[in-house]
Amino acid sequence: FSSKLPKIGTTIFTTMSLLAEEKKAVNLGQGFPDFDCDPALINAVSDAMKNGMNQYPPMSGALPLRLALSNKIEKLHGRHYNPASEITITAGATQALLAVIMSVVHAGDEVIVIEPAFDSYVPAIELAGGKPVFVQMTLGADGYSAPWDQVAAAVTPRTRLIMINTPHNPTGSVLSSADINSLADIVRNTDILILSDEVYEHMVYDGLTHESICRHPELAARAFMVSSFGKTYHVTGWKIGFVAAPAALMAEFRKVHQFSVFSVNTPAQHGIASYMQNPAPYLELPAFYQRKRDLFRDGLKSSRFKLLPSSGTYFQCVDYSAISSSNEAEFATWLTSEIGVAAIPVSAFYATPRESSIVRFCFAKQDTTLQQALQRLSKV
Ligand code: PMP
Ligand code: GLN
Repeated sequence: FSSKLPKIGTTIFTTMSLLAEEKKAVNLGQGFPDFDCDPALINAVSDAMKNGMNQYPPMSGALPLRLALSNKIEKLHGRHYNPASEITITAGATQALLAVIMSVVHAGDEVIVIEPAFDSYVPAIELAGGKPVFVQMTLGADGYSAPWDQVAAAVTPRTRLIMINTPHNPTGSVLSSADINSLADIVRNTDILILSDEVYEHMVYDGLTHESICRHPELAARAFMVSSFGKTYHVTGWKIGFVAAPAALMAEFRKVHQFSVFSVNTPAQHGIASYMQNPAPYLELPAFYQRKRDLFRDGLKSSRFKLLPSSGTYFQCVDYSAISSSNEAEFATWLTSEIGVAAIPVSAFYATPRESSIVRFCFAKQDTTLQQALQRLSKV
């Protein structure tokens, strides 16, 4: 039979985590914390289990969690999403992204993807029969930025969807309100939809604001906003996320969602809903991760790695061209095997070949882990 995804193999995250394990390397590759979540969150889920929250929740998600999200989004961003018709709980952001794309992209539709892009976007577009149209971010002295003039030039009558991701994996860049206004100028008077991946919404540093798509009324009216509790609450293995969108878009989303997972883990949803009543954990997240970012950056300052800016996410990209002329995949493999620190080659986030020497480190690690990694990296 012919493969539906002939070019797809194992993801780079799995590959590098396996190599890190085999080589006993410090794993700064795949993005996940090496510390545990708040015990209060575990207690909240365990209480839900003990209280009989163990059968199917509604297809759209446990109501207390949809309510908690609606209240939180309104408080943070000033936009009301109706918990009954405009919020759905998903099996992480990955399933949310796939189901959004499956629900709105028809065969032959074009989807604009800004590279580097998270590795699930393009296979999802291809499964829907869509055509990814790539625009590359530019790297200047201030870091990576989205070239809106090129996004505008990439629009055709077949453009169905534009995907954005802020804070951005892997570059750590954060869209400004001027960026969001540029996007609004591009889609005004078209029927193009927006898919906004905001899984790192609470990891924004240096006093910057997370410019959620829902803060812009004109864009919110045509946008799916996706996020994941895995990042915010240090539980990437729980695989619970959500989508918020206007009712008409959400109705289409739910048609796909109900036949891809129907619904997701009941006790985790109730546990998260009750834990969310306290805003402190997400309000404290920027300071928590900014300190780790600075610890990691300070440790690399005297090395031969050139630090690129990181204003959000838990990722730090570095340019290694002063160290090696190997390509990014070779360099990441060498760093893992010979130096004992795993990283992700940024080439994994591009479909289009390019000349660059950049790898990504994840700093969502205990200080002792970061210090061990820095000790090894300082010898490179
Ligand atoms: N989007 C981006 C940009 C990500 O970095 C991730 C992280 N894994 C995801 C989506 C997927 O999130 P989840 O683990 O909740 O499926
Ligand atoms: N989002 C995580 C990262 O970028 C990995 C997710 C995964 O393993 N699929 O590292």
